[in-house]
Amino acid sequence: MAEQTRRYQRDVAWLLSRRDEFVEVDCPACGSGDADPAWSKFELDYVRCRACETVYINPRPSLDLLGEYYRRSENYDYWNNVVFPASEDARRAKIFRPRAERVAAIAERHDATGGVLVDVGAGFGTFCEEALALGAFEQVLAIEPEPHLAETCRRKGLEVIERPVEEAELPVDQVGVVTNFEVIEHLFSPREFVARCAALLPPGGLFVVTCPNVKGFDIVVLGAVANAIDTEHLNYMHPHSLGLLLEREGFEVLESETPGRLDAELVRKKALAGEFDLSRQPFLEQVLLEEWDRLGDAFQDFLTASGLSSNMWLVGRRR
Ligand SMILES: [Zn+2]
Repeated sequence: MAEQTRRYQRDVAWLLSRRDEFVEVDCPACGSGDADPAWSKFELDYVRCRACETVYINPRPSLDLLGEYYRRSENYDYWNNVVFPASEDARRAKIFRPRAERVAAIAERHDATGGVLVDVGAGFGTFCEEALALGAFEQVLAIEPEPHLAETCRRKGLEVIERPVEEAELPVDQVGVVTNFEVIEHLFSPREFVARCAALLPPGGLFVVTCPNVKGFDIVVLGAVANAIDTEHLNYMHPHSLGLLLEREGFEVLESETPGRLDAELVRKKALAGEFDLSRQPFLEQVLLEEWDRLGDAFQDFLTASGLSSNMWLVGRRR
């Protein structure tokens, strides 16, 4: 983690050195141009849309600069070659298997099992492997444009489309579900991306998307101190604003949940590390520090069940 932090700092320094290539954008969720300052971090400006309360980096790296950033990122290289391989077993058990089970249950609820599942931004393919193993889908396709990651997917025996989503050619009438995990917050234009995902689905097909919820507990409490606020996350939507975006791009929103489990612990850890002061928030101090053993789980259960966790899932059905 220390090495990752060093590499990330070098990536950020490189990005800031190219600041003259940043561009102004409107709200990535609703298109409004009215916004107020929200936070400053890493010498970047995060603004909050007056219309829909989405927070976004503005100005932000241009599309070309963003492409170059990810191609040359020392942090991503380290993540791909060291961190992920070393932690894949734990991630499989704690993240990817539960994720696949959740998607299979969603498909079951909305009568979308049996067809093709397409995972956009498949990465190491661990989710696709787990989705395949569940047997709920006839076929699982991984869309992964990054050559090294696409090769990793192929070595796992997965069917891979090594192209950006806009160039992927699919048997659209057989696609039942398109999934996309923790990607949309990184994209220059979430709206274009959602439109492209919609184009991969026939009417009635499901789109499952996950990302941070800016109205989730740890982000609301910690603000810019939250780990989720970083240079790579350009867009911070919440269930309502992401829902509006999906509606505008041809989906009916069927489900909106915040199943995240880490909010309370994230704030607690920041307080324990001295990075965030809870002394003027006695209620949170009581729950997260003094009576953590008694209240921690119950408090997190409340956040998760009430739409107040900072990890959200939306399910849309193509009209
Ligand atoms: Zn907006």
